[in-house]
Amino acid sequence: MSKVMSRLPTNDLSEPVKRSLLTNAKRAYEIRLQTGNGGNLSGRVPGTDLIIIKASGCSFDQCAAENLITVTLDGEQVDGDGLPSRELATHLAIYKQRPDVHGVFHCHSPWAIAYANFNNTIPTVTLHAKSKLGRIPILRLSGETTQARLAAVQAMLAADRNLRVFVEDLHGIFSFASTIELARYNAELVEETAQIAWFMALSEHVTPNRERDA
Ligand SMILES: [Zn+2]
Repeated sequence: MSKVMSRLPTNDLSEPVKRSLLTNAKRAYEIRLQTGNGGNLSGRVPGTDLIIIKASGCSFDQCAAENLITVTLDGEQVDGDGLPSRELATHLAIYKQRPDVHGVFHCHSPWAIAYANFNNTIPTVTLHAKSKLGRIPILRLSGETTQARLAAVQAMLAADRNLRVFVEDLHGIFSFASTIELARYNAELVEETAQIAWFMALSEHVTPNRERDA
């Protein structure tokens, strides 16, 4: 792997971002929101056009300072060894279109992926999900190319300037927020909401033994 000469500013604002990335990666692995070496997360260095993202190939559990990569909003690598996550382009598309976003979290969690495969949205069935997430649309791609994915992501973001999450069909959750921690919290909430929605859908085949409230 090539060694990249660091071009980080000397008044380094990246350290708190890196600490938050590592904390949230560990948490996601511990609660099995993401197993194996899938998933990725990133954060924006405040007041700069720099994004720090997990390196490709390492698990959330293995995530350490040495496998965090810093790139510009245009994708030029300015710090860190190795390669940035393969989903860097989607992260950058979100940051470019949403200046309010300072953290992006992505995982391949099963309940959300399964629900997305059969439905056009994951219903925000709980009051908590409704208030915290608003809506959970599904992104379906019409092509396999990076360009097709980016065009679809950009269209989805343009259609709803307050969008906080979406689930890509056959892929996983993308959550983006003012902090990395909030992006991870919201991804957890999407997965939990998808699981509840599944149970509620299944329960429609069970004879209830109580009257539902009106
Ligand atoms: Zn992925």
